[in-house]
Amino acid sequence: MTDPPVIEFRQVGLTYPGPPPVEAFKPCDLTVAKGEFVTVVGPSGSGKSTFLNIAGLLDAPTSGTYLLDGIDTGALKDGDRTALRGRRIGFVFQSFHLLPHRSALENVLLALVYSGTPRAERKPRAHEALTQVGLGHRIDALPTRLSGGERQRVAIARSLVARPSLLLCDEPTGNLDSANAESVLALLEELHESGMTVLVITHDPAVAARGSRMVGIHDGVLRERVAA
Ligand code: ADP
Repeated sequence: MTDPPVIEFRQVGLTYPGPPPVEAFKPCDLTVAKGEFVTVVGPSGSGKSTFLNIAGLLDAPTSGTYLLDGIDTGALKDGDRTALRGRRIGFVFQSFHLLPHRSALENVLLALVYSGTPRAERKPRAHEALTQVGLGHRIDALPTRLSGGERQRVAIARSLVARPSLLLCDEPTGNLDSANAESVLALLEELHESGMTVLVITHDPAVAARGSRMVGIHDGVLRERVAA
């Protein structure tokens, strides 16, 4: 049997109630298959955060149906939505949100504490995730001793360690200079090549061009773009 899409929007939309009501995300269909590297690009105010919040199960849409890995998220109770989010979605944010006084390994380990992973497996798993992002030799380093690109790679390891089905990245290079941004984008490409489903939300067309599929967002409307 083939896998269901990781993301399937069926006429998913979100209107903030206001007053006045704001139709921040217009009803649309979107399918992201397992293993795709999709970028969603649009200017400020276009609806990117609204889209991120829906796709990341942080906000429920006000219309339509959102299936994540084939699971109808609209039918779930709050606790089940939270559990699904924790298990299936790895978030990567512009600011890395690392604990500054904890080592890279501890930062990644902490993501496993509530995951149900047996204690004995946690350390090897965290080490493996850091190795996967090219930081196997820096596991004891504090974030303050790492470059911005390395910090973001620790954050990516932290989001990968629970083995999510979707890596959801919000402006992942927004706080980085061009060399560090390049190392993070190269890592996302590598993860994609190894089979991970990656979705990057950005205002930056150069970042968006790195995806294997680009989707534009304008005034709350999603539209497939053909790469130049
Ligand atoms: P972006 O992330 O691309 O900057 P947003 O998703 O934050 O865009 O916003 C899309 C539109 O929805 C904007 O017009 C914004 O003003 C509006 N909006 C965002 N959040 C709310 C809210 N809580 N209530 C009402 N309108 C909102």
